[in-house]
Amino acid sequence: MQRRQFVKGSLAGLPTLFLATSLVAGACKKNNNVDPNSKTVVIVGGGVSGLSAAKKLKEKGLTVIVLEAQDKVGGRLRTNRSLSVAFDEGASWIHGINGNPMATLAQQAGMDTFYTDDNSRKSYDIGGVLRSSIAYDDAEEELYAILETLMKSGNASQSFETVFTNLYPAKANDRLWKFLLSTYITFDTGDLNQLSSLLYNEGEEFSGVEKIATNGYDTIANYLAKDLTVQLNQRVTKIDYSDTKIAVTHNGTTTVADYVIVTVPLGVLKANSIEFVPALPAVKQTAVQKVGMNCVNKFLLTWNTAFWDNVQYLSYTPEVRDKFNYFVNVKKFHPDVNALMTFAYADYGRQTETMSDAQVTADIMGHLRDMYGTSIPDPTTMLRTKWQSNENSVGAYSYTAVGTAMHHFDDLAEEVNDRLFFAGEHTHIDYFSTAHGAYLSGIREADKIIALL
Ligand SMILES: Cc1cc2nc3c(=O)[nH]c(=O)nc-3n(C[C@H](O)[C@H](O)[C@H](O)COP(=O)(O)OP(=O)(O)OC[C@H]3O[C@@H](n4cnc5c(N)ncnc54)[C@H](O)[C@@H]3O)c2cc1C
Repeated sequence: MQRRQFVKGSLAGLPTLFLATSLVAGACKKNNNVDPNSKTVVIVGGGVSGLSAAKKLKEKGLTVIVLEAQDKVGGRLRTNRSLSVAFDEGASWIHGINGNPMATLAQQAGMDTFYTDDNSRKSYDIGGVLRSSIAYDDAEEELYAILETLMKSGNASQSFETVFTNLYPAKANDRLWKFLLSTYITFDTGDLNQLSSLLYNEGEEFSGVEKIATNGYDTIANYLAKDLTVQLNQRVTKIDYSDTKIAVTHNGTTTVADYVIVTVPLGVLKANSIEFVPALPAVKQTAVQKVGMNCVNKFLLTWNTAFWDNVQYLSYTPEVRDKFNYFVNVKKFHPDVNALMTFAYADYGRQTETMSDAQVTADIMGHLRDMYGTSIPDPTTMLRTKWQSNENSVGAYSYTAVGTAMHHFDDLAEEVNDRLFFAGEHTHIDYFSTAHGAYLSGIREADKIIALL
Protein backbone atom coordinates (compact mmCIF):
# COMPACT_ATOMS: atom_id res chain seq x y z
CA MET A 1 0.00 0.00 0.00
CA GLN A 2 2.98 2.32 0.27
CA ARG A 3 4.71 4.13 -2.52
CA ARG A 4 6.26 1.92 -5.20
CA GLN A 5 4.70 -1.19 -3.74
CA PHE A 6 2.96 -2.03 -6.99
CA VAL A 7 6.09 -2.13 -9.10
CA LYS A 8 7.61 -4.97 -7.13
CA GLY A 9 5.58 -7.78 -8.60
CA SER A 10 5.64 -6.40 -12.08
CA LEU A 11 9.38 -5.96 -12.24
CA ALA A 12 10.32 -9.31 -10.81
CA GLY A 13 10.63 -10.99 -14.18
CA LEU A 14 12.26 -8.16 -16.06
CA PRO A 15 15.92 -7.97 -16.93
CA THR A 16 17.81 -5.26 -15.11
CA LEU A 17 17.67 -2.89 -18.00
CA PHE A 18 19.36 0.08 -16.55
CA LEU A 19 21.70 -1.15 -13.87
CA ALA A 20 24.73 -0.70 -16.08
CA THR A 21 24.14 3.01 -16.40
CA SER A 22 26.04 5.13 -18.83
CA LEU A 23 27.22 7.16 -15.92
CA VAL A 24 30.22 5.17 -14.83
CA ALA A 25 33.10 7.14 -13.52
CA GLY A 26 35.37 5.79 -16.22
CA ALA A 27 33.66 8.07 -18.72
CA CYS A 28 35.54 11.06 -17.26
CA LYS A 29 39.12 11.99 -18.13
CA LYS A 30 41.70 11.18 -15.47
CA ASN A 31 44.48 13.51 -14.31
CA ASN A 32 47.20 11.33 -12.86
CA ASN A 33 48.47 11.84 -9.33
CA VAL A 34 46.44 14.88 -8.39
CA ASP A 35 46.56 15.50 -4.66
CA PRO A 36 42.93 15.33 -3.46
CA ASN A 37 43.78 17.90 -0.79
CA SER A 38 44.40 20.46 -3.49
CA LYS A 39 40.88 20.18 -4.87
CA THR A 40 37.76 21.94 -3.65
CA VAL A 41 34.26 20.71 -4.33
CA VAL A 42 31.17 22.83 -3.76
CA ILE A 43 27.95 20.90 -3.35
CA VAL A 44 24.78 22.84 -3.96
CA GLY A 45 22.08 21.44 -1.68
CA GLY A 46 22.30 19.55 1.62
CA GLY A 47 19.72 16.84 0.97
CA VAL A 48 20.64 13.17 1.15
CA SER A 49 22.24 13.21 -2.32
CA GLY A 50 24.45 16.20 -1.53
CA LEU A 51 25.39 14.81 1.87
CA SER A 52 26.29 11.35 0.58
CA ALA A 53 28.52 12.91 -2.08
CA ALA A 54 30.10 15.26 0.45
CA LYS A 55 30.82 12.49 2.95
CA LYS A 56 32.48 10.29 0.35
CA LEU A 57 34.58 13.11 -1.12
CA LYS A 58 35.67 14.31 2.30
CA GLU A 59 36.73 10.78 3.21
CA LYS A 60 38.94 10.82 0.07
CA GLY A 61 40.63 13.97 1.33
CA LEU A 62 39.02 16.63 -0.86
CA THR A 63 37.95 19.97 0.57
CA VAL A 64 34.17 19.94 0.46
CA ILE A 65 31.74 22.79 1.11
CA VAL A 66 27.99 22.16 1.13
CA LEU A 67 25.85 25.22 0.43
CA GLU A 68 22.29 24.71 1.69
CA ALA A 69 19.48 27.24 1.23
CA GLN A 70 17.55 26.21 4.33
CA ASP A 71 18.39 26.48 8.00
CA LYS A 72 18.92 22.73 8.33
CA VAL A 73 20.18 19.82 6.26
CA GLY A 74 18.04 16.99 4.91
CA GLY A 75 15.96 18.63 2.18
CA ARG A 76 13.09 16.21 1.57
CA LEU A 77 14.24 14.15 4.55
CA ARG A 78 12.49 16.65 6.74
CA THR A 79 11.07 15.97 10.18
CA ASN A 80 8.73 18.26 12.10
CA ARG A 81 9.39 17.72 15.80
CA SER A 82 7.01 20.36 17.16
CA LEU A 83 4.72 17.70 18.67
CA SER A 84 5.48 14.70 20.87
CA VAL A 85 5.72 12.59 17.72
CA ALA A 86 8.18 13.01 14.84
CA PHE A 87 6.21 13.96 11.71
CA ASP A 88 8.12 13.20 8.53
CA GLU A 89 7.05 15.80 6.02
CA GLY A 90 8.96 14.14 3.17
CA ALA A 91 10.15 10.54 3.05
CA SER A 92 8.65 8.17 5.63
CA TRP A 93 9.37 4.66 4.39
CA ILE A 94 12.39 2.59 3.51
CA HIS A 95 11.00 0.93 0.41
CA GLY A 96 12.19 -2.68 0.50
CA ILE A 97 14.87 -3.30 3.11
CA ASN A 98 16.95 -5.96 1.31
CA GLY A 99 20.10 -4.32 -0.02
CA ASN A 100 18.61 -0.87 0.44
CA PRO A 101 21.34 1.56 1.55
CA MET A 102 18.80 3.44 3.66
CA ALA A 103 18.31 0.31 5.78
CA THR A 104 22.04 0.15 6.50
CA LEU A 105 22.20 3.89 7.13
CA ALA A 106 19.21 3.71 9.47
CA GLN A 107 21.12 1.25 11.65
CA GLN A 108 24.31 3.32 11.59
CA ALA A 109 22.48 6.58 12.27
CA GLY A 110 20.10 5.29 14.94
CA MET A 111 16.94 5.79 12.91
CA ASP A 112 14.27 3.55 14.43
CA THR A 113 11.90 1.83 12.04
CA PHE A 114 8.66 -0.16 12.18
CA TYR A 115 7.34 -2.77 9.77
CA THR A 116 4.07 -1.46 8.37
CA ASP A 117 1.88 -4.45 7.54
CA ASP A 118 0.04 -3.90 4.25
CA ASN A 119 -2.50 -6.54 5.19
CA SER A 120 -3.55 -4.76 8.35
CA ARG A 121 -6.21 -2.56 6.75
CA LYS A 122 -9.86 -1.63 6.57
CA SER A 123 -11.60 0.10 3.71
CA TYR A 124 -14.69 2.28 4.08
CA ASP A 125 -17.00 3.44 1.33
CA ILE A 126 -19.03 6.63 1.59
CA GLY A 127 -21.83 6.37 4.12
CA GLY A 128 -19.39 4.60 6.45
CA VAL A 129 -20.00 1.24 4.76
CA LEU A 130 -17.22 -1.19 5.57
CA ARG A 131 -16.06 -2.83 2.36
CA SER A 132 -15.51 -6.57 2.32
CA SER A 133 -11.85 -7.45 2.29
CA ILE A 134 -12.54 -9.93 -0.50
CA ALA A 135 -13.81 -7.14 -2.78
CA TYR A 136 -10.76 -5.06 -1.91
CA ASP A 137 -8.28 -7.90 -2.41
CA ASP A 138 -9.86 -8.89 -5.73
CA ALA A 139 -9.67 -5.34 -7.07
CA GLU A 140 -6.06 -5.05 -5.90
CA GLU A 141 -5.14 -8.29 -7.70
CA GLU A 142 -6.86 -7.08 -10.84
CA LEU A 143 -5.04 -3.76 -10.67
CA TYR A 144 -1.66 -5.52 -10.49
CA ALA A 145 -2.63 -7.60 -13.54
CA ILE A 146 -3.68 -4.47 -15.44
CA LEU A 147 -0.41 -2.74 -14.57
CA GLU A 148 1.48 -5.65 -16.15
CA THR A 149 -0.16 -5.08 -19.51
CA LEU A 150 -1.56 -1.56 -19.83
CA MET A 151 1.67 -0.26 -21.39
CA LYS A 152 1.01 -2.49 -24.42
CA SER A 153 -1.99 -0.27 -25.19
CA GLY A 154 -0.06 2.88 -24.30
CA ASN A 155 1.70 5.32 -26.58
CA ALA A 156 4.10 8.23 -26.28
CA SER A 157 1.47 10.94 -26.45
CA GLN A 158 -1.27 9.52 -24.22
CA SER A 159 -1.53 9.61 -20.48
CA PHE A 160 -2.15 6.66 -18.21
CA GLU A 161 -5.58 8.11 -17.44
CA THR A 162 -6.62 8.33 -21.09
CA VAL A 163 -5.57 4.78 -21.86
CA PHE A 164 -6.99 3.33 -18.64
CA THR A 165 -10.34 5.11 -19.10
CA ASN A 166 -10.59 3.89 -22.71
CA LEU A 167 -9.91 0.31 -21.67
CA TYR A 168 -11.84 0.26 -18.39
CA PRO A 169 -14.48 3.02 -18.39
CA ALA A 170 -16.53 1.48 -15.58
CA LYS A 171 -13.49 1.10 -13.33
CA ALA A 172 -12.42 4.70 -13.97
CA ASN A 173 -15.69 5.80 -12.34
CA ASP A 174 -15.76 3.27 -9.52
CA ARG A 175 -14.93 4.67 -6.09
CA LEU A 176 -12.75 1.73 -5.01
CA TRP A 177 -10.83 1.89 -8.28
CA LYS A 178 -10.38 5.64 -7.94
CA PHE A 179 -8.86 4.97 -4.52
CA LEU A 180 -6.55 2.26 -5.87
CA LEU A 181 -5.43 4.40 -8.80
CA SER A 182 -4.78 7.26 -6.43
CA THR A 183 -2.86 5.50 -3.67
CA TYR A 184 -1.13 2.77 -5.67
CA ILE A 185 -0.20 4.84 -8.71
CA THR A 186 -0.56 8.62 -8.31
CA PHE A 187 1.08 8.54 -4.85
CA ASP A 188 3.97 6.61 -6.35
CA THR A 189 4.28 8.52 -9.60
CA GLY A 190 2.30 11.62 -10.56
CA ASP A 191 -0.94 13.07 -11.92
CA LEU A 192 -2.68 10.29 -13.87
CA ASN A 193 -3.60 12.71 -16.65
CA GLN A 194 0.09 13.49 -17.14
CA LEU A 195 1.64 10.13 -16.28
CA SER A 196 3.15 8.29 -19.27
CA SER A 197 1.02 5.39 -20.48
CA LEU A 198 4.25 3.69 -21.58
CA LEU A 199 6.63 4.32 -18.68
CA TYR A 200 4.39 4.37 -15.59
CA ASN A 201 5.92 1.09 -14.42
CA GLU A 202 9.61 1.96 -14.92
CA GLY A 203 12.15 1.87 -12.15
CA GLU A 204 13.80 -0.77 -10.01
CA GLU A 205 12.80 -1.87 -6.53
CA PHE A 206 14.54 -3.44 -3.57
CA SER A 207 12.88 -6.57 -2.23
CA GLY A 208 11.83 -7.08 1.37
CA VAL A 209 9.33 -5.40 3.61
CA GLU A 210 8.59 -1.69 3.90
CA LYS A 211 9.63 0.02 7.10
CA ILE A 212 8.53 3.41 8.33
CA ALA A 213 10.85 5.74 10.26
CA THR A 214 9.53 6.32 13.76
CA ASN A 215 11.98 8.83 15.23
CA GLY A 216 12.43 10.96 12.11
CA TYR A 217 14.00 10.31 8.69
CA ASP A 218 16.17 13.39 9.20
CA THR A 219 18.18 11.23 11.62
CA ILE A 220 19.95 9.89 8.53
CA ALA A 221 20.63 13.35 7.12
CA ASN A 222 22.02 14.59 10.43
CA TYR A 223 24.23 11.49 10.66
CA LEU A 224 25.64 12.02 7.16
CA ALA A 225 26.23 15.73 7.84
CA LYS A 226 28.29 15.10 10.96
CA ASP A 227 31.81 16.54 10.54
CA LEU A 228 31.02 18.05 7.13
CA THR A 229 31.40 21.73 6.33
CA VAL A 230 27.83 22.81 5.67
CA GLN A 231 26.96 26.47 5.24
CA LEU A 232 23.27 26.90 6.03
CA ASN A 233 20.94 29.65 4.79
CA GLN A 234 23.02 29.96 1.61
CA ARG A 235 20.86 30.21 -1.51
CA VAL A 236 22.85 29.63 -4.67
CA THR A 237 21.70 31.92 -7.48
CA LYS A 238 24.44 31.58 -10.11
CA ILE A 239 26.97 28.98 -11.21
CA ASP A 240 29.59 30.23 -13.66
CA TYR A 241 31.52 27.32 -15.15
CA SER A 242 32.93 29.21 -18.13
CA ASP A 243 36.46 29.03 -16.69
CA THR A 244 38.59 26.18 -15.29
CA LYS A 245 37.54 27.20 -11.81
CA ILE A 246 33.81 27.38 -11.12
CA ALA A 247 32.33 30.45 -9.41
CA VAL A 248 29.29 29.78 -7.26
CA THR A 249 27.31 32.82 -6.18
CA HIS A 250 25.29 32.62 -2.95
CA ASN A 251 23.91 35.34 -0.72
CA GLY A 252 25.91 37.99 -2.58
CA THR A 253 29.27 36.21 -2.16
CA THR A 254 31.18 33.89 -4.44
CA THR A 255 32.86 30.60 -3.60
CA VAL A 256 35.32 29.19 -6.13
CA ALA A 257 35.67 25.45 -6.68
CA ASP A 258 37.38 22.92 -8.93
CA TYR A 259 34.22 20.83 -9.12
CA VAL A 260 30.58 21.55 -8.35
CA ILE A 261 27.80 19.04 -7.75
CA VAL A 262 24.33 20.47 -8.23
CA THR A 263 21.79 18.51 -6.18
CA VAL A 264 18.82 20.88 -6.11
CA PRO A 265 15.46 19.21 -6.85
CA LEU A 266 14.10 18.93 -10.37
CA GLY A 267 11.38 21.45 -9.43
CA VAL A 268 14.07 24.03 -8.63
CA LEU A 269 15.79 23.37 -11.97
CA LYS A 270 12.44 23.72 -13.76
CA ALA A 271 11.86 27.06 -12.00
CA ASN A 272 15.19 28.35 -13.42
CA SER A 273 16.05 29.92 -10.09
CA ILE A 274 19.77 29.24 -10.61
CA GLU A 275 21.52 30.98 -13.52
CA PHE A 276 24.10 28.77 -15.27
CA VAL A 277 26.88 30.48 -17.23
CA PRO A 278 27.12 29.29 -19.94
CA ALA A 279 23.57 27.98 -20.17
CA LEU A 280 23.22 24.25 -19.53
CA PRO A 281 23.50 22.05 -22.64
CA ALA A 282 20.27 21.78 -24.63
CA VAL A 283 20.05 18.04 -23.91
CA LYS A 284 19.95 18.69 -20.17
CA GLN A 285 17.48 21.56 -20.51
CA THR A 286 15.17 19.28 -22.49
CA ALA A 287 15.39 16.59 -19.82
CA VAL A 288 14.57 19.16 -17.12
CA GLN A 289 11.39 20.01 -19.00
CA LYS A 290 10.38 16.49 -19.94
CA VAL A 291 10.68 14.59 -16.67
CA GLY A 292 7.64 15.21 -14.47
CA MET A 293 7.60 16.59 -10.93
CA ASN A 294 4.59 15.56 -8.87
CA CYS A 295 2.93 16.87 -5.73
CA VAL A 296 2.18 14.89 -2.60
CA ASN A 297 1.16 16.60 0.62
CA LYS A 298 1.02 14.99 4.05
CA PHE A 299 -1.13 15.85 7.07
CA LEU A 300 -0.77 14.69 10.66
CA LEU A 301 -3.73 15.01 13.03
CA THR A 302 -3.72 14.22 16.74
CA TRP A 303 -6.51 13.59 19.28
CA ASN A 304 -6.73 12.99 23.01
CA THR A 305 -8.23 9.57 22.41
CA ALA A 306 -8.34 7.24 19.42
CA PHE A 307 -11.73 6.45 17.84
CA TRP A 308 -10.53 4.46 14.83
CA ASP A 309 -9.92 0.78 14.08
CA ASN A 310 -6.80 -0.86 15.47
CA VAL A 311 -5.29 -1.54 12.02
CA GLN A 312 -2.27 -0.04 10.22
CA TYR A 313 -4.14 1.46 7.26
CA LEU A 314 -7.59 2.92 6.88
CA SER A 315 -8.91 3.80 3.50
CA TYR A 316 -11.90 5.86 2.49
CA THR A 317 -13.18 6.02 -1.06
CA PRO A 318 -14.69 9.43 -1.84
CA GLU A 319 -15.80 10.60 -5.27
CA VAL A 320 -12.88 13.05 -5.51
CA ARG A 321 -9.92 10.90 -6.43
CA ASP A 322 -6.83 12.17 -4.65
CA LYS A 323 -8.43 13.64 -1.55
CA PHE A 324 -7.58 12.44 2.00
CA ASN A 325 -8.38 8.84 1.08
CA TYR A 326 -5.70 6.99 2.99
CA PHE A 327 -4.84 7.10 6.69
CA VAL A 328 -1.74 5.69 8.39
CA ASN A 329 -2.48 4.75 11.98
CA VAL A 330 0.48 6.27 13.85
CA LYS A 331 -0.70 4.64 17.09
CA LYS A 332 0.46 1.29 15.72
CA PHE A 333 4.10 2.37 16.11
CA HIS A 334 3.63 5.03 18.81
CA PRO A 335 1.12 3.42 21.21
CA ASP A 336 0.96 6.57 23.37
CA VAL A 337 0.15 8.86 20.47
CA ASN A 338 -3.37 9.17 19.06
CA ALA A 339 -2.56 10.32 15.55
CA LEU A 340 -3.43 9.63 11.93
CA MET A 341 -1.40 10.68 8.91
CA THR A 342 -3.23 11.33 5.65
CA PHE A 343 -2.35 12.53 2.15
CA ALA A 344 -3.44 14.61 -0.82
CA TYR A 345 -1.94 13.98 -4.25
CA ALA A 346 -1.52 15.59 -7.64
CA ASP A 347 -3.89 18.47 -8.48
CA TYR A 348 -5.88 18.01 -5.30
CA GLY A 349 -2.60 18.07 -3.37
CA ARG A 350 -1.73 21.41 -5.00
CA GLN A 351 -5.21 22.69 -4.25
CA THR A 352 -4.79 22.01 -0.52
CA GLU A 353 -1.94 24.52 -0.49
CA THR A 354 -4.48 27.31 -1.11
CA MET A 355 -6.76 26.07 1.69
CA SER A 356 -6.67 27.32 5.27
CA ASP A 357 -5.87 24.93 8.14
CA ALA A 358 -9.54 25.10 9.13
CA GLN A 359 -10.69 24.12 5.62
CA VAL A 360 -8.22 21.23 5.43
CA THR A 361 -9.24 19.98 8.88
CA ALA A 362 -12.94 20.26 8.02
CA ASP A 363 -12.48 18.22 4.83
CA ILE A 364 -10.48 15.50 6.58
CA MET A 365 -13.00 15.39 9.43
CA GLY A 366 -15.81 15.12 6.87
CA HIS A 367 -14.28 11.85 5.70
CA LEU A 368 -13.58 10.55 9.20
CA ARG A 369 -17.09 11.45 10.42
CA ASP A 370 -18.58 9.62 7.47
CA MET A 371 -16.52 6.60 8.52
CA TYR A 372 -16.90 6.79 12.31
CA GLY A 373 -19.96 8.91 13.03
CA THR A 374 -20.63 12.58 13.69
CA SER A 375 -19.81 12.43 17.39
CA ILE A 376 -16.04 11.97 16.94
CA PRO A 377 -14.12 15.02 18.22
CA ASP A 378 -12.16 17.58 16.24
CA PRO A 379 -8.39 17.01 16.35
CA THR A 380 -6.27 18.82 18.90
CA THR A 381 -3.54 19.59 16.35
CA MET A 382 -2.96 19.40 12.61
CA LEU A 383 0.43 19.60 10.87
CA ARG A 384 0.70 19.87 7.08
CA THR A 385 3.09 20.25 4.17
CA LYS A 386 3.07 22.48 1.09
CA TRP A 387 5.64 20.88 -1.19
CA GLN A 388 4.51 22.60 -4.37
CA SER A 389 4.89 26.14 -3.06
CA ASN A 390 8.09 25.30 -1.20
CA GLU A 391 10.76 27.16 -3.20
CA ASN A 392 13.38 24.63 -2.11
CA SER A 393 11.69 21.74 -3.90
CA VAL A 394 8.76 23.03 -6.02
CA GLY A 395 7.02 19.66 -5.91
CA ALA A 396 7.57 16.33 -4.19
CA TYR A 397 9.50 13.98 -6.52
CA SER A 398 10.08 13.12 -10.15
CA TYR A 399 8.06 10.74 -12.33
CA THR A 400 7.73 9.59 -15.92
CA ALA A 401 5.34 12.07 -17.52
CA VAL A 402 3.95 12.00 -21.06
CA GLY A 403 6.99 13.08 -23.10
CA THR A 404 9.56 11.59 -20.71
CA ALA A 405 12.00 9.08 -22.17
CA MET A 406 14.12 6.98 -19.80
CA HIS A 407 17.32 8.50 -21.22
CA HIS A 408 16.18 11.85 -19.80
CA PHE A 409 17.15 10.60 -16.32
CA ASP A 410 20.66 9.89 -17.62
CA ASP A 411 20.69 13.28 -19.35
CA LEU A 412 19.89 14.90 -16.01
CA ALA A 413 22.84 13.04 -14.47
CA GLU A 414 25.34 13.78 -17.25
CA GLU A 415 28.34 15.84 -16.14
CA VAL A 416 29.36 18.94 -18.09
CA ASN A 417 33.02 19.57 -18.99
CA ASP A 418 34.19 17.15 -16.26
CA ARG A 419 33.64 19.98 -13.79
CA LEU A 420 29.92 20.43 -13.27
CA PHE A 421 28.13 17.36 -11.86
CA PHE A 422 24.51 16.59 -11.05
CA ALA A 423 22.96 14.41 -8.38
CA GLY A 424 19.52 14.07 -6.78
CA GLU A 425 16.68 11.58 -6.95
CA HIS A 426 15.69 12.83 -10.40
CA THR A 427 19.09 11.79 -11.81
CA HIS A 428 18.80 8.11 -10.90
CA ILE A 429 17.37 6.09 -13.77
CA ASP A 430 16.68 3.04 -11.59
CA TYR A 431 15.58 4.56 -8.30
CA PHE A 432 14.27 8.03 -9.14
CA SER A 433 11.73 9.50 -6.69
CA THR A 434 13.19 7.78 -3.65
CA ALA A 435 15.53 8.52 -0.77
CA HIS A 436 17.79 5.62 -1.74
CA GLY A 437 17.93 6.82 -5.34
CA ALA A 438 19.04 10.24 -4.11
CA TYR A 439 21.65 8.72 -1.79
CA LEU A 440 23.09 6.50 -4.53
CA SER A 441 23.19 9.40 -7.00
CA GLY A 442 25.43 11.34 -4.62
CA ILE A 443 27.82 8.39 -4.27
CA ARG A 444 27.85 8.02 -8.07
CA GLU A 445 28.88 11.65 -8.63
CA ALA A 446 31.51 11.52 -5.88
CA ASP A 447 32.98 8.46 -7.60
CA LYS A 448 33.12 10.34 -10.90
CA ILE A 449 35.14 13.14 -9.31
CA ILE A 450 37.43 10.72 -7.49
CA ALA A 451 38.09 8.95 -10.80
CA LEU A 452 39.30 12.25 -12.26
CA LEU A 453 42.07 12.71 -9.69
C1 LIG B 1 5.94 13.99 0.49
C2 LIG B 1 7.10 13.11 0.16
C3 LIG B 1 7.07 11.78 0.50
C4 LIG B 1 8.15 10.94 0.18
N1 LIG B 1 8.14 9.65 0.61
C5 LIG B 1 9.23 8.87 0.41
C6 LIG B 1 9.34 7.62 1.05
O1 LIG B 1 8.46 7.22 1.83
N2 LIG B 1 10.46 6.86 0.78
C7 LIG B 1 11.45 7.29 -0.05
O2 LIG B 1 12.42 6.54 -0.28
N3 LIG B 1 11.39 8.52 -0.63
C8 LIG B 1 10.32 9.32 -0.39
N4 LIG B 1 10.29 10.59 -0.88
C9 LIG B 1 11.37 11.03 -1.79
C10 LIG B 1 12.65 11.41 -1.05
O3 LIG B 1 12.33 12.20 0.07
C11 LIG B 1 13.53 12.21 -2.01
O4 LIG B 1 13.71 11.47 -3.20
C12 LIG B 1 14.92 12.53 -1.45
O5 LIG B 1 14.87 12.95 -0.12
C13 LIG B 1 15.52 13.61 -2.34
O6 LIG B 1 16.84 13.89 -1.95
P1 LIG B 1 17.71 14.89 -2.84
O7 LIG B 1 19.01 15.03 -2.20
O8 LIG B 1 17.63 14.47 -4.26
O9 LIG B 1 16.90 16.27 -2.81
P2 LIG B 1 16.53 17.24 -1.53
O10 LIG B 1 16.41 16.38 -0.35
O11 LIG B 1 15.40 18.00 -1.97
O12 LIG B 1 17.86 18.09 -1.39
C14 LIG B 1 18.09 19.21 -2.19
C15 LIG B 1 18.52 20.36 -1.30
O13 LIG B 1 18.80 21.50 -2.12
C16 LIG B 1 18.43 22.65 -1.39
N5 LIG B 1 18.30 23.77 -2.31
C17 LIG B 1 17.29 24.03 -3.19
N6 LIG B 1 17.57 25.14 -3.89
C18 LIG B 1 18.78 25.58 -3.47
C19 LIG B 1 19.62 26.67 -3.83
N7 LIG B 1 19.27 27.54 -4.78
N8 LIG B 1 20.78 26.84 -3.17
C20 LIG B 1 21.17 25.97 -2.19
N9 LIG B 1 20.43 24.91 -1.83
C21 LIG B 1 19.24 24.72 -2.46
C22 LIG B 1 17.15 22.23 -0.71
O14 LIG B 1 16.85 23.08 0.38
C23 LIG B 1 17.45 20.81 -0.31
O15 LIG B 1 17.97 20.74 1.00
C24 LIG B 1 9.25 11.45 -0.53
C25 LIG B 1 9.30 12.82 -0.85
C26 LIG B 1 8.25 13.64 -0.49
C27 LIG B 1 8.32 15.11 -0.81
